[in-house]
Amino acid sequence: MSKESKIVLTGDRPTGRLHLGHFVGSIKNRIKLQNEYDKSFYMIADIQGLTDNANNPQKVRDNVIEVMLDNLACGLDPEKTTMFIQSEVPEIAELTVIFLNLVTLARLKRNPTVKDEMKQKGFGEDVPAGFLCYPISQAADILFAKANLIPVGEDQLPVIEQANEIVDTFNRFYGDTFTKVKHLVGDTPRLIGIDGGVKMGKSLNNAIYLSDSFDEISKKVMSMYTDPDHIHVEDKGKVEGNVVFAYLDIFDSNKEEVSGLKEQYKKGGLGDVVIKKRLIQVLENIINPIRTKREELAENPEQVMKILEDGTKKARESAKETMAEVRKALKINYF
Ligand code: ATP
Ligand code: MG
Repeated sequence: MSKESKIVLTGDRPTGRLHLGHFVGSIKNRIKLQNEYDKSFYMIADIQGLTDNANNPQKVRDNVIEVMLDNLACGLDPEKTTMFIQSEVPEIAELTVIFLNLVTLARLKRNPTVKDEMKQKGFGEDVPAGFLCYPISQAADILFAKANLIPVGEDQLPVIEQANEIVDTFNRFYGDTFTKVKHLVGDTPRLIGIDGGVKMGKSLNNAIYLSDSFDEISKKVMSMYTDPDHIHVEDKGKVEGNVVFAYLDIFDSNKEEVSGLKEQYKKGGLGDVVIKKRLIQVLENIINPIRTKREELAENPEQVMKILEDGTKKARESAKETMAEVRKALKINYF
């Protein structure tokens, strides 16, 4: 494969079903780029999932099929994208060990994403070493495949930055081997949670899932925060900080009508239930076809696992090629 090949790679942690944040932050770009790039990889990051779930391997195991179903239902096509499982490509672990020597503890502790997530999970100094080091293993996830474009949500940008530092250090120590990677964030780089929280996350209990039923969507939207001072229909309402309008701005394709509704809401005379009902329908229109496809695919779990098995074989071929190069560069190619 020549140096100019365009290779795209993404992945998800199998820690829960996927939600609207994944859809707008990364999945839409995955679907698009699989048609435009020379090679496309999609990884189930089960080893990374275990970094903060070491005591619950069953959870990670059960969610492998769930995130596969979500991606396939959204349109990821195994004919175009090599879908594989991280733990079944041991070369990634090998590359991680080599990269560990290129990053300092101080640098790991400085990564803002890891810092945020450590706070969220209440780890403090008792953070599992594997979790603190996940940006290093993520660099190996990307570089084993020589990927150069990574569609991610905004929360992952510091991790991509760290991968590029590893590229620089590696090339400086051992000669030109890897090229820098670029990130691509979606049109919504970071979707807020239904609680108005800074990020919708599958471990944050604030998500609308791509597999949610109409009733679940309805319940979640009806519970959304609007404007606490907007009590009566005739009251003037605030649009800023109003979660329902934030979602309408992102998901409602009729921008003109949304802008009209905002005006009316600000003036008074528009009830929360009206805008919530509209949002429920907008989200149902997006999720319904995904949910239907997902249910169909879920009838054949063996077929889904076979896609992963075949994809993993392919991914390993790339991994072996890269490792041969890396071993040579590090002078650890003995026999
Ligand atoms: P966890 O809480 O277990 O970390 P997560 O919801 O953050 O789960 P990941 O599997 O860590 O999901 O992330 C997969 C991809 O989806 C990453 O590229 C991430 O940046 C992106 N992503 C996750 N949440 C959002 C969001 N709310 N908005 C935009 N992109 C997101
Ligand atoms: Mg995450």
